[in-house]
Amino acid sequence: MPEARRLFFALALPKPLQQQVITWRAESFAADAGRPVAAANLHMTLAFLGEISEQKASVLTDIASRIQSPAFSMQLDDLGHWPRPGVVWLGTRRAPTALLQLASLLRSHAARNGCHQSTLPFHPHISLLRGATQPLALPASTPQWTLTAADFGLYESRFHQGRTRYQCLHSWPLVSSAPSSC
Ligand code: ATP
Ligand code: MG
Repeated sequence: MPEARRLFFALALPKPLQQQVITWRAESFAADAGRPVAAANLHMTLAFLGEISEQKASVLTDIASRIQSPAFSMQLDDLGHWPRPGVVWLGTRRAPTALLQLASLLRSHAARNGCHQSTLPFHPHISLLRGATQPLALPASTPQWTLTAADFGLYESRFHQGRTRYQCLHSWPLVSSAPSSC
């Protein structure tokens, strides 16, 4: 029987933004605050699918390829700490409707295809530190980055030799609202 793969839909951060975030993070948090998430692993999960079969992955890939959803931008102007499970995160105070709709659509397709979805409300965030279970002082503000989502992707998460790596299996464009030329 083919192996199940651990998959999720997510938004990626462009490389320049990854670098800005990790530079700021190094200046803003004590070394013992938590384990920094690798630059290439910074992402915003839209829907977690869990360990699923190739057949289920293929159905969800097909569904995702037919999604016509608008592109959007958000300010990364929120910062928080969940002592359990120990995550320091970067988020947005005003989640764009298009982001919420895209996540909701993907999560409902996932649920309909047997991928258990958390009953907690969707809280869009980028995990910055893991294992941050002790109380810590957060910086008073964030540098006010903008994350522009022009596409979304399906990612595989693999844990190998003590490290988690993500691989983008497919990505699909979001629909730009820019006027097209005649
Ligand atoms: P690791 O678990 O190895 O420390 P990770 O959490 O980044 O690293 P995964 O557990 O494979 O790797 O998770 C991939 C993405 O899916 C992450 O954004 C993670 O927060 C999210 N995720 C994992 N489990 C769930 C879950 N049960 N419900 C919602 N999102 C989840
Ligand atoms: Mg995890």
